[in-house]
Amino acid sequence: MSPMTTMDLLERTIVRSGHRLTTPRRRLLEVMDGLGDRFTADQVLAASPGVGRATVFRTLRLMQELGVVCQVVLDGGGVAYRLGSGGHHHHVVCSECGAVSDFASHDIEDLVAELGRRSGFEIDSHRLELYGRCQRCRATLILD
Ligand SMILES: [Zn+2]
Ligand SMILES: [Zn+2]
Ligand SMILES: [Zn+2]
Repeated sequence: MSPMTTMDLLERTIVRSGHRLTTPRRRLLEVMDGLGDRFTADQVLAASPGVGRATVFRTLRLMQELGVVCQVVLDGGGVAYRLGSGGHHHHVVCSECGAVSDFASHDIEDLVAELGRRSGFEIDSHRLELYGRCQRCRATLILD
């Protein structure tokens, strides 16, 4: 048996949630997979000739609901999307090249719960992105 590809994993998640992986949806996911660490809706649109803007946005929204795509807030405040690893997680974003990695931390989740208790808020959600320079970009700086 050949190893599972990203597309296989995405397909499994989508089908398990009771949705169909229609041809346009599959096309769009393949495009997203090819766009790398993160992508904008416009990039997906530009790379998908014959697929309308509404379909791109509808698919992005559905994929977010299913946890297949997540939002990444960029250094400048813009929003990009990323094929998700599923489950709650956070991002480290490189300010130089835009590379993104996921991380999860029990300590952060505990802190959020504690801050909720202290503030008297019932916290529904939170977002945390870390910005900096990735290893590759730092290596380039040293070599320059
Ligand atoms: Zn993510
Ligand atoms: Zn970088
Ligand atoms: Zn968290």
